[in-house]
Amino acid sequence: MAVEIFNSAVRKAMCLAGLSQEDLFARLGYSRRSLFDHFSATKMCEIAFLLDTPADTLWDLSGDHDKRDYDCAIMNFEQRFCSDEVIAWAKQFPIRDLQRLGHIQSTEGISFNKRFKSGFIPREIMKFMNVVSIDGWKKTYATALGTQNPQVYSAWIRLGELQTERSAEEIPLFREVIANNLMFLRRNALPLKYNLRQIVIDTLQKCDITILQVPAFITAPAPKVASYWRGLRPVIQLPTTKVSDSEFLESVYHAMGHILQSHSKRPCLLAPRKIPGLYHSATNEHCKEATRIAESLLLSEAEECEIICSGHFAEKKCIEFFSRKFQVRPSVIVSRLQQQNKLRSNSSLNVFKIAV
Ligand SMILES: [Zn+2]
Repeated sequence: MAVEIFNSAVRKAMCLAGLSQEDLFARLGYSRRSLFDHFSATKMCEIAFLLDTPADTLWDLSGDHDKRDYDCAIMNFEQRFCSDEVIAWAKQFPIRDLQRLGHIQSTEGISFNKRFKSGFIPREIMKFMNVVSIDGWKKTYATALGTQNPQVYSAWIRLGELQTERSAEEIPLFREVIANNLMFLRRNALPLKYNLRQIVIDTLQKCDITILQVPAFITAPAPKVASYWRGLRPVIQLPTTKVSDSEFLESVYHAMGHILQSHSKRPCLLAPRKIPGLYHSATNEHCKEATRIAESLLLSEAEECEIICSGHFAEKKCIEFFSRKFQVRPSVIVSRLQQQNKLRSNSSLNVFKIAV
């Protein structure tokens, strides 16, 4: 087949869909090379599906032979939504919630067989996730794979993606200024009782970070935070679920730790730690670096040492003293001491934590 793959019609449709070539390859689940080396009618079907545009609008299929090839390929393509593997995969998505939100079509009154075996729901899910295969989903939402509910968390990230415009315009991120702002934020957040969440969000937005608050699906424990790049802009996505102020700050600072790494635009998803060893930070250098940056901004190692060396850190007064001295919320100190196994997780000092 001698067609120009990325002709002007395809480029226009990609632009409308907000997809770069890189995004497209991830969502197809294969490399640029396998697309170019073996461009086929099946691959046309896949690209047409992703771009939500009929193939004959994208390419010239007027030749008899081309048209027959394509009709055959589209039948095979639709079959993929009916495979046992794809059905089992699709079932793990929060289907009812997605229907309630209007992202996939309602199937009320339709039998199980019709919903799944016909490929209807799997197709709707692929359409919503904007992928053409499980491989494409794995490549695009790799950050969710290490969690216990990859489908639920990837769908949550997708909800955020749909709310942000992909931006091709680069904005300069002044990383030192942002780090300074985060230091100020830590201090400014000290006395806040009711509006901590909003102040944190306002501060980050002033640094040109897009902040999204997206309700989590109830079918899995709420994720803590996700960070990713939409085009050239960084996005931080938070669940609307209430968490303790220390956990909220730690999650946000972790996400910022990723954005402050100038050499990397890796996405990150922090989800409740459930499967030991699968938790991605254990294997992900960028995540470790993000944690290091977050900790140094929120409560430095030197400060932590000073608190521990005081020997009285299990006392309420001592936490209050260091909270004033270092200008950091007392719950952040308590949480750090718990992470260092200096305090029990059910310590009475948890009274310092408030829900935000
Ligand atoms: Zn991370």
